[in-house]
Amino acid sequence: MAKLIAEMEIDAVTMELPDTKTVRLKWPEGYTHDFKTGQFITVYWPDTPTYKRAYSLSSCALDRGFYEVTIKRDGKMGTRIVDWAKPGDKLFVIPPVGKFLPAYDKHLICIAGGSGVTPFRGFVREATRSGLNTKITILYSVRTTNDIIFNAEFRELEQQNPNFNFYVTCTRLAVEDPWTGRRGRINAEWVKEHIHDLSNTVFYACGPNELVEATESLVIEELKVPKEQMKTEKWG
Ligand SMILES: Cc1cc2nc3c(=O)[nH]c(=O)nc-3n(C[C@H](O)[C@H](O)[C@H](O)COP(=O)(O)OP(=O)(O)OC[C@H]3O[C@@H](n4cnc5c(N)ncnc54)[C@H](O)[C@@H]3O)c2cc1C
Repeated sequence: MAKLIAEMEIDAVTMELPDTKTVRLKWPEGYTHDFKTGQFITVYWPDTPTYKRAYSLSSCALDRGFYEVTIKRDGKMGTRIVDWAKPGDKLFVIPPVGKFLPAYDKHLICIAGGSGVTPFRGFVREATRSGLNTKITILYSVRTTNDIIFNAEFRELEQQNPNFNFYVTCTRLAVEDPWTGRRGRINAEWVKEHIHDLSNTVFYACGPNELVEATESLVIEELKVPKEQMKTEKWG
C-alpha cells in the first residue's frame, strides 16, 4: 500500500528545555491513519525534500488530530526545528511505522537517557488515560536536574496513575546541589531493584546507538535477561 505522505501545519510548539522542543503537527482535513503508540514519523521540509529525519511520537494513539514529536537541537534538522520551527510552518510527514510498541500485559521497565525518553511519554499517557493496570517504570538518566524532559508531566502522571513510577538519576550534579534523588549512571544494581517478576517484564531502551547498546549489554549480559524481553529503538 502506498504511504500517505501529508503536508502538516505546525499548530503549536513548546520549549521543553533550552535545546529541546515539542512540535505539534496538525492532521490536514480528511487525514486518517492507523498507528500505534511508540511508532515514529519521518519528516522533511518542503524546500529540502530529500533531507528526511525520523522522530518517535511523544504523543500517543489516543491523541487524535495531531502528532507530537520532541526534538533535540543537533545537526541540520534538529537545529532548524528547535531554533526556527514556528506555528504556521509546514512539514511533510511520512506516517508512523515501527515496532517499538508497549506490551501492556507486562511490567514495562523503560530505560532512557536525555532525549531518548520521548516515546515513553506516549506509553504512559496511553496507559493512564485508558486506565490500564500495566506497571510502568521509567529509569531516566540526565546530566543535571535542568535536563529532565517532561518532568512536570511525568510527575503529574505519577499522581494520576498508581502503577507508574518515574525515577531520575543525575550524572553531573555539583556535590552541593540540594537534589535528594539518585546520582550516577544507570547500573545493573539500580535496574535490578525495580524488577519484581522477571518473566513478566519487558525492558525498553531508546535513543542514540551508544546509549542503547550500553543498556542492552547491561540488561542482557549483566542481568541475564533473555533477548526476547528487550526492545530497542536506535536513533543512529
Ligand atoms: C526511529 C528514530 C526515532 C528518532 N526519534 C527522535 C526523537 O524523538 N527526538 C530526537 O531529537 N531525535 C530522534 N531521532 C534522531 C533524528 O532522526 C536525527 O538523527 C537527529 O535529529 C539528528 O539529525 P540532524 O539532521 O539534526 O543531524 P545531522 O545533520 O544528520 O547530524 C548528525 C550528527 O552529526 C553531527 N554533525 C553534523 N555535521 C557535523 C560536522 N561537520 N562536524 C561534526 N559533527 C557534525 C551533528 O551535530 C549530529 O550530532 C530518531 C531517529 C530514529 C532513527
